[in-house]
Order: sequence, then structure tokens, then C-alpha cells
Amino acid sequence: MHTKTKAIHAAMEVVNQNPDIVPPVHRSTVYELDKEGRSEDDWHYTRLDNPNRVQWEHVLKVMEDGEAAAAFSSGVAAASAVFQALEPGNHIIIPEDVYAGNRKLVKELMQPWGLKADFIDMTDLQNIKAHITGDTKLIWVETPSNPMMNIMDIGAITSLAHENGALVCVDNTWPTPINQKPLDLGSDLVLHSTTKYFGGHSDILGGAIVSAEQDGIFEKIRMVQRVGGAVPSPDDCWMLARSTRTLPYRMRGHNENAELLARFLQNHHKVEKVFYPGLATHAGHEVAEKQMTDFGGMISFLVDGDADDAIDIVGRSKLIGRATSLGGVESTWEHRRSSEGEDSITPKNLIRISVGLEHADDLLEDLDQALV
Ligand SMILES: *Cc1c(COP(=O)(O)O)cnc(C)c1O
Repeated sequence: MHTKTKAIHAAMEVVNQNPDIVPPVHRSTVYELDKEGRSEDDWHYTRLDNPNRVQWEHVLKVMEDGEAAAAFSSGVAAASAVFQALEPGNHIIIPEDVYAGNRKLVKELMQPWGLKADFIDMTDLQNIKAHITGDTKLIWVETPSNPMMNIMDIGAITSLAHENGALVCVDNTWPTPINQKPLDLGSDLVLHSTTKYFGGHSDILGGAIVSAEQDGIFEKIRMVQRVGGAVPSPDDCWMLARSTRTLPYRMRGHNENAELLARFLQNHHKVEKVFYPGLATHAGHEVAEKQMTDFGGMISFLVDGDADDAIDIVGRSKLIGRATSLGGVESTWEHRRSSEGEDSITPKNLIRISVGLEHADDLLEDLDQALV
């Protein structure tokens, strides 16, 4: 079956005892046990397992062509579980322009815990090779990266990692499995902030890890999920499984609109440079074409001017909302450096847009009046 079909039907394939067409929400935190406190079906307590979470994890693994999935209460909680599944003293390689929240997580929590990390330019395979040590256990990939849209070669990095006994985890939040399937390209783990396109309506916080195998690393991630306790509520799992049914069609709209806006911006005199992997002028276009089926709904661009010019442009929009985060049906944009804070390495004149599903002409009109 095709992903579009699976997105609609996967949730009903598990823990479905009633003749429902859509799953119910299971809010009970506890389950009936036998007199010795055991359960034949292994339902004990909702932090350990809940029917809605089992369904949602099934949907995730089906969407990413994986063997197992663990859902979390946020994207950074999911990333945290991957790092905690390693051991103090282990070394990781991670992109220098990794999502700012994950950089914070590694620097403020995981390095003090004992994880060793190198933040490097990962568009260059030789550079990654030069940083591998005997302790390297994990290579973290984020492609396209946030907000610079750098493209990393998932297949080549995975081969290099596996030759050196390291795992690869790909943050697939931006492309979603509709545009990119890292497990099919050989990587071991996929991370999602399901707050973004999976949720799709700017109203749920969530995260997930999908694993290629039901193996040792996944068992540790599952342990961190249950013991650490950063689990999503039954309602959030239900909402996410619901939103996934429209993910393939929403992504089609995000892809189409973003491509139109990227081309418009590229030809605009107030714009110095556009970062969108779908443009032939993009440095990573060739690799992106090889590993992505489409190029997503995120665009970054440099204004011809300084930080104040970029901030003024963002201030002039009438339709495009001013907000951080991304992946909603509504278009939003931000002066990225202001939102990343002091240690940001993002150019001062960069604006990042999350292109929504409004009619492209209305978005182009708003961009045109803001770019003066
Ligand atoms: C938002 C985001 C995250 C973190 O997810 P939260 O749900 O905010 O915790 C991780 N990676 C990327 C690429 C993101 O955009």
C-alpha cells in the first residue's frame, strides 16, 4: 500500500476491539488486573502503555517504514531519550547548525552528564570522517537543516557511520516521511518533533523516535520513555493519529506553495539570497534530489539589507503571521536570529518562512507589499 493510504488506515490496525471507524480516546490511567496485580494483555498503567499511544506509535512506524516507534511529550524529549540511551563517555557528531533546542539540550544537559560532542559542518563527508573517534557511537543528521537548509547526504553518512560502528539518527521533522524516508536510506533512527507537520495545526506538542529495528538501542529508548516518563497524553496521541490522515495532502500543498514562493523571492530585488533545496541554484540541490521526493514547506532568505530591514519586513506582513515554530496550515515567519538568542550563528538579515496552505496568490501579494 502507498503511504497516502497507510496514513488513513494505520491507526485502526491495532488495539481495535469495537466496530469503530475511528478510534476512541482511552483516558483511563489504570486497567483491571488479576488478584496478583498482573494483566494478561500487559496493560498496567498509562505511563507504561495506553491504547491511544500504541495506535499512534503504530502509525509512526508504518509512516516511516520502521519496525518500532516510541512517542514522547515533545521533540526535545525524544532527542533526549536517544542521548540517554547512550553512555557517559560516548562521543557524538552533530551538525553545527542543528536545531537550536537540540544544541541547548546537548550543551546544557548531555555534556554535563558525560556525553562528548563535536558540533561540525556535516555537508562535507571528509570533515565527518576526520571527527570520528573510537568512542563515536552516534552521528546526528538534520537535513534540510534549520534555518540554513544545508543538505547532508543520508546514505553516504550512514555508510561511513556503520563502517565505524556508529548509529545514525536523522531529525526528519522538516521533510516528514512524505518527502524523505531516512530508514529506507539505511539510517537506524528517525526523530520527529510531531509538534510540526504531523500535528499540522499549531495546537499539539509532541515528539517521536522511529527505529529501523526492534533492537538494543530501541529497547533502551523504550526504557527511557517509560522510566523517564516524558510521555504524551492519550488525547494528544489521538489528535496526532487524526492529523496524520491528512499529512500526505497537506505536504503536497506545503511543497507546492513553498516552491512558488521560493521562485518569487529569488527574483525579487529586495532579496539577496534564497535557501530552498528545490531551487537548482541551492548548494545541496543534487543531493536533495537524490534523497527527497519533494522539498518541503520551509524557506529561508536573506534580505538585501541589515537586521533592522529584515525585522521591518517581518513587521509589515498582514496575512503571514509572526511566530516561531512551523508546520501549521497557516503561514508564519520570523526574524530567526532574534528568536534563537545570543549564541545564534544565523545571519542577521535572515527571515525564515513556514509556508502554509493559503492560496499562493494571497501569500505572494502579502510578500510583495512587505518587501519594500
Ligand atoms: C521544533 C523542532 C524540534 C524540537 O521539537 P519540540 O517539539 O519543540 O520539542 C526538533 N527538531 C526540529 C528540526 C524542530 O523544528
